[in-house]
Amino acid sequence: MNNFDNVYHTDVLIVGGGPAGVSCAFALGKLGTKTILIDRKKYELIGDKVCGDALSPLYTDKAYQDIGLPKPDFLVLVDQSVLIGKEPTTQLILTSGNATVDRLEYGQKLIKSLKQFDNIKVMAETRVRETIVTDDFLTGLICSVNGKLIKINSKIVIDASGSSGVVRSRLPDYYVKNRFPKKIPKDEMLIAYRDIIKLPDKHEYQNG
Ligand SMILES: Cc1cc2nc3c(=O)[nH]c(=O)nc-3n(C[C@H](O)[C@H](O)[C@H](O)COP(=O)(O)OP(=O)(O)OC[C@H]3O[C@@H](n4cnc5c(N)ncnc54)[C@H](O)[C@@H]3O)c2cc1C
Repeated sequence: MNNFDNVYHTDVLIVGGGPAGVSCAFALGKLGTKTILIDRKKYELIGDKVCGDALSPLYTDKAYQDIGLPKPDFLVLVDQSVLIGKEPTTQLILTSGNATVDRLEYGQKLIKSLKQFDNIKVMAETRVRETIVTDDFLTGLICSVNGKLIKINSKIVIDASGSSGVVRSRLPDYYVKNRFPKKIPKDEMLIAYRDIIKLPDKHEYQNG
C-alpha cells in the first residue's frame, strides 16, 4: 500500500484526544517536542463520551500543578458521593470531595488548550487503520481521513485510545509475542451505563 494522499513525519504520534492523550500532548507541547495527536471524532465532539460527570478537584489540581493542564469549570461541588450497587446495601461512600463537570465542555477546553503550542498538530476525524512495524519497531500508522488514506511516520507512537486499544490490537502477532494481550481480557472489563434521574425535590441521602 504505497499510494497515500499525505505522508507526515513526527517525533511523537498520540492516538486519542481523551484525558490521557491530551495530558501527554500538553506536556510534550511544553517540551517543544514535535507531536501529532489524532482522534476519530469530529473536533467539536472531542471530549464527548459516556461519563458520570464526576471529577475530583484533587486530581485536576495536581494535573494543573504538575504540567499546567487547564482545570475544569466545575458545576457543583459535593461533600460526599454514594455509589450504590445492584443490591442497595452494597455502597461505597466517597467523602474526599467531588465535583460535577460538563464532560464535553471540559474535553473541548483541554483539546483547545493545545492550540497554544506550535509543535502540536491535532488531526480530528482521523482513524487508525494499520500499524507500520519496521525491524521490530512500531514506526508509524496508516490512518483514514474522510475516505483518504494517510501515513504518519513517528519515532514514538502512544496508544491513548482508551478501552478500544486500537494500536495494540492492530500490531502483528509476532511483534506482540507474549508481551501484552492485543485486546483487553474480558474478565478485566465491566459494562457500565449512565442514567440521569431528575428528582422533583431536593434529595437528602439517608444511610440504609
Ligand atoms: C459509564 C462510564 C462512566 C464514567 N464516569 C466517570 C466519571 O464520572 N469520572 C471520571 O473521572 N471517569 C469516569 N469514567 C472513566 C473515564 O471515562 C476514563 O477513565 C477516561 O475517559 C479514560 O481516558 P482516556 O484518555 O484513557 O480514554 P478516552 O477518554 O476513552 O479517550 C480515547 C480517545 O481515543 C479516540 N479513539 C478511539 N479509537 C480511535 C481510533 N481508531 N482512531 C483514532 N482515535 C480513536 C476516541 O475518540 C477518544 O477520544 C467513566 C467511564 C465510563 C465507561
